[in-house]
Amino acid sequence: MLKSEYLQRVYTQAVTRDPDQREFHQAVLEFLESLDQIIDQHPEYEKKGIVETFVEPERVITFRVPWVDDQGKVQVNRGYRVQFNSSIGPYKGGLRFHPTVNLSILKFLGFEQILKNSLTTLPMGGAKGGSDFDPKGKSDEEVMRFCQSFMTELQRHIGQFVDVPAGDIGVGAREIGYLFGQYRRVRGTYAAGVLTGKGLSFGGSLVRTEATGYGLCYLTQEMLSKMKGDSFQGKTVVISGSGNVAIFACQKATELGAKVVALSDSNGYIHDPKGIDLDVVKDIKLGHRGRIKEYADRVPGSTYTEGFRGIWNVPCDIALPCATQNEIDGEIARTIVKQGTIAVAEGANMPCRPEAIQEFQHAGVLFAPAKAANAGGVATSGLEMSQNSMRYAWSFEEVDRRLKTIMTNIFHNIYTAAGECGKPGDLVLGANIAGFMKVADVMLSQGLI
Ligand code: GLU
Repeated sequence: MLKSEYLQRVYTQAVTRDPDQREFHQAVLEFLESLDQIIDQHPEYEKKGIVETFVEPERVITFRVPWVDDQGKVQVNRGYRVQFNSSIGPYKGGLRFHPTVNLSILKFLGFEQILKNSLTTLPMGGAKGGSDFDPKGKSDEEVMRFCQSFMTELQRHIGQFVDVPAGDIGVGAREIGYLFGQYRRVRGTYAAGVLTGKGLSFGGSLVRTEATGYGLCYLTQEMLSKMKGDSFQGKTVVISGSGNVAIFACQKATELGAKVVALSDSNGYIHDPKGIDLDVVKDIKLGHRGRIKEYADRVPGSTYTEGFRGIWNVPCDIALPCATQNEIDGEIARTIVKQGTIAVAEGANMPCRPEAIQEFQHAGVLFAPAKAANAGGVATSGLEMSQNSMRYAWSFEEVDRRLKTIMTNIFHNIYTAAGECGKPGDLVLGANIAGFMKVADVMLSQGLI
């Protein structure tokens, strides 16, 4: 129950409108709980109807995506784009291709994206899209035909000044290439800035691939330094997932002096007490889209265990959940706390359930929420858009330097915001408030209707 009657009304309305959208309710409630701490000081939000407007997407598009599989059979998937908020810039956010995709998941992701993009300080609104299409086990040709059909419809809703999609789970360089090719063909225009995460030879940015994982470590490093006078040096790290975010978080944490001992996929996890050999992981995951199990067959001394949740039984100083939403519940969080973990930073979007976050915060474990900790991906997408507008490409060092500055600034902004709200160290509160206030002020100054 929220303290503020106004916020409780907003929440009840969101739930009543879409009773089945559990992930969306979860994201909205976490946000409203933060707002509850400051709403008394801002009567203008209720007077002008800001919060009820903020939790309702500007536009939701759903469409059918028919495509022909390798057997010549027609398959039909569902495509979506949730254009949530465009107050501070064109809609911006990734596309997820995964069988679990539905409107609840995309609305939660689009909602978080508004706050995340605001925290980057770059001019990007919030959106998310995708499909229940599963790229796993599909041939390149099937993925291409699916992407072409998806873009044939999506193209009428996007543009470099309108809405700029990118990747997320199931959408990487291969998919972005096919999507971009179809946009260019259908529209007859070479607008590189319409998508981000592109290949380097057609408008992509250096560091975009590494950005989410690197950014996660830059922010975590700053959090450790400011809040504990500590660093990654000599620490044991467990990272769930083994996709793009996990791989480059593993690389950066290792570069910063830590030892990463476990990674997972949706089937199970590997444990390598000597420290993960990332070349092997890259070969398996990026080289031939294999399963993480293969690592244990190839690297002596490592083990594979079925079931992805078991990874959190591996003791660590720093936990970086980089798999998917709601992976860590209260019970797993208690295990993590008991092992003496000092910091948890979310690389995936909303990997920790609300009761898990409470466990961490009560136990004094440093906790960095996704909308701040994993903002490096979209921040570098913003840098890709800048480079596309200039028709110019910065060096790796230049983009990396900017990414690091952005992540460091995000940490300090949310840390300061938490302190100003009277809850020093509560980075969930800090991220929600700092992300929201900027967008809310712009909504007020532009007028809502
Ligand atoms: N999917 C990423 C995220 O969750 C990146 C989005 C983007 O680059 O637009 O933030």
